[in-house]
Amino acid sequence: MPPAPPREDPLALLVAAACGAAGLGALGLAAAWWHAERAAPALLAAGLALLAVAGLHWRLARRARQWAGEAQAARQAAQQARAQLAATLDILPDGLAIYDADDRLVLCNASYRAVAPGVTLPLEYGLRFEEVLRRIAASGELTGLRPEDVDPWLAQRLASHRTFSDPAVQEVCGDRWMQLSERRLDDGGVVVLRTDITDTVHKERALQQALQDAENAQRSLREAVDAMPAGLEIYDAQDRLVLCNEHMERLRPQLPVHTSLGKTYEDLLREGLRQGVPEEASGQEELWLAHELALRGHRQGPEVRRCPGGAWVHRHECRTPSGMTVCVSLDITDLIEQRHKAEAARQESQRTRQLLERAVEALPVSIEIFDEQDRLVLFNQQLSRMYPHMNYAQYLGRSFADILRHSVETEKIPSAQGREEAWIAERLSEHGSRASNLVQRLADGRWINVYETRTPENYVVAVRLDITNLIEQRQALEAAQEAAQAAQQLLRDAVESLPEGFALFDAEDRLVVCNAQYRRLYPISAPMIVPGNTFEQIARYGAERGQYPDAAGQVEAWLARCVADHRAARHTVLQRLPEGRWVQADERRTPQGGIAGVRTDVTQLVRKEQELAAANAKLALLSTTDGVTGIGNRRRFDERLAVEWLRCGRQRLPLAVVLIDIDHFKLYNDHYGHLAGDECLRRVAQLLQATIRRADEVTARYGGEEFVLLLPDTPLPAAVTVAQRCMDSLRNAALPHPRSPTAPVITFSVGIASVVPHADASSDTLVQAADAALYRAKYGGRNRMETFDPGPVAQASAAAAPP
Ligand code: GH3
Ligand code: MG
Ligand code: MG
Repeated sequence: MPPAPPREDPLALLVAAACGAAGLGALGLAAAWWHAERAAPALLAAGLALLAVAGLHWRLARRARQWAGEAQAARQAAQQARAQLAATLDILPDGLAIYDADDRLVLCNASYRAVAPGVTLPLEYGLRFEEVLRRIAASGELTGLRPEDVDPWLAQRLASHRTFSDPAVQEVCGDRWMQLSERRLDDGGVVVLRTDITDTVHKERALQQALQDAENAQRSLREAVDAMPAGLEIYDAQDRLVLCNEHMERLRPQLPVHTSLGKTYEDLLREGLRQGVPEEASGQEELWLAHELALRGHRQGPEVRRCPGGAWVHRHECRTPSGMTVCVSLDITDLIEQRHKAEAARQESQRTRQLLERAVEALPVSIEIFDEQDRLVLFNQQLSRMYPHMNYAQYLGRSFADILRHSVETEKIPSAQGREEAWIAERLSEHGSRASNLVQRLADGRWINVYETRTPENYVVAVRLDITNLIEQRQALEAAQEAAQAAQQLLRDAVESLPEGFALFDAEDRLVVCNAQYRRLYPISAPMIVPGNTFEQIARYGAERGQYPDAAGQVEAWLARCVADHRAARHTVLQRLPEGRWVQADERRTPQGGIAGVRTDVTQLVRKEQELAAANAKLALLSTTDGVTGIGNRRRFDERLAVEWLRCGRQRLPLAVVLIDIDHFKLYNDHYGHLAGDECLRRVAQLLQATIRRADEVTARYGGEEFVLLLPDTPLPAAVTVAQRCMDSLRNAALPHPRSPTAPVITFSVGIASVVPHADASSDTLVQAADAALYRAKYGGRNRMETFDPGPVAQASAAAAPP
């Protein structure tokens, strides 16, 4: 360490500085004045400056001598102090070394050199820090430091050197531990301190091991506590929760463990009340709370409680000698629920039994139950009513055999009479094992149906039903059935013996029955005429196969009519069958909604009717035909006039009549003879017949040599036209009549009338009107026509008439 500079006297320094400053000031002033060419003041100033500098030099020389003396004394003192310091440091138990700013060893104590027990490392002052490290590495002090590890260790030590970070810990041989720390010195040096912390390390290790053991023990305890099948809570002496296992949290999920720990029992009770009030605390929470706290630690034994979550717990609370409270809660929800279920099942069973007893009594049948030893254990009042001679209450617990014997003794069972023991043996052997029911007749005429069943428990349940009514009804029914069968047979025979075909259809129109004659009438449809088929199916089958000629080409339309007629069942219908056969169908509704039908073969009748109709038609034609001329006679005219009079009257149509009379026909006869007269009449008739064109118009011989035309829907002018055509035709024919005063040929006179028939008027008025017109034509000169309303028509005819 260099000696410290002697302390400077401030006043002396101030004087030396003032001298220096005065010298410099005077020198500056002299230079100024010299420059200003003022030599005298300049020289004076220079002299003053020299004096001041000389004073300063003297002062400094004296101080230098003083300092050299003080430095020598200081070096000696320092060596002495260093030796004393080294001796002092050697006493220290920790290693200590001082390195200067160049990292050279300046000082170290004996502990620093002692690298192992009894091994001292020679370290000369001035050694560099790195060399010291190398020597330490080579000394074998460091545990486990292999040769190849030396350089990395060295690099790591040098890197941490002078960083003045936290102390490093180094293990050295002999299981010892050193702490290496460095301190910075003001002159750039560094103090290296090596402290033996073996004891501390060992203690720390032991402590860590103890802590680890404690932690393991705590974890094991925690696991054991959590694994407990019961909830566990431990409260300290101040009743604060210090432990709570997972099972407890499951029982009381509204108070999680992490928020509950540290809280007092009272806090937790209040918290619980906020989450849900127990049933017994409802409405009196504070009172309940006070009661709970008062009981804390004084409970006589375990309690069963219901948690707010619904779980039932068996809770046991006890105090430890140190004042802690341990609560164990066992989840007995399943047990409680099972108990509740068992209780509910017991009540249900009781209700069911009562219901069953009432039901058994309410049954319309008697019930009796025998146990596995065939003793009567249950019966209902119906049984007593069914067998009034028996006192069943007296027989409860008695065997079936006893009951049978008593029953036989009363002689109420006719089938047992005379063979009592055999009957009892039979009943005993079949008791509960009969494959079928037993029908028993009693002495008073009643019939009892007995059902006996053996249960899996080997009990026999017997049910008896009074079936007297049923038997009587069955007997009556059988008698009625026999009568019905006889009646049916009678009916079948009657139906079959009918000469007509007969068929009965039900309300759904399905064939119920028919006789053979019915099928014979319809040979084509016969395969379909079987009970069960509908009328429509049968008719369609026949229509599609030619059974009905009228259906040919229009099966559907014909079928619709046929089915409608059938269902109407009102009219007699005539059916045409192949080969010219005819069947008359008569159908009627039955009271049950069915249809009964009769089919009569009327082929002969129809044929005769047809022949008769043809003869009648011929006769009718003949009776209305004129025998001389072959055209219609007066009767035909009258008939058609009556018809057309009504028709035209209804339709407001004009009806015209044209009356024609041959002029001077008597003279013709006289001239040519009567036969020629007849021939002439035929010619005229043909001419007139050829003149009419419409089908509804009629030409007839009205009588003698008079003819008439009936023209429906013909007004007077049109009738005049027709009459004119007749006159023209006759004129063209030019039939000679040499004796006629009117003309050399046959002529005739014509009277025409046309009216719209009136309901009140007779058709005779029309004929009379035409006749009147004819009369006028005759007396008007003949060979002419006149209308009922003469005038322009009569004049026109006259003008048209030949001369
Ligand atoms: P008018 O011009 O006035 O009619 O004179 P007319 O001779 O024709 O009339 P009249 O009444 O006097 O005579 C009708 C004659 O018609 C009398 C009769 O000999 C004749 N006659 C009537 N019916 C027939 C008949 O069936 N055959 C023939 N050949 N003549 C008949
Ligand atoms: Mg006449
Ligand atoms: Mg005449």
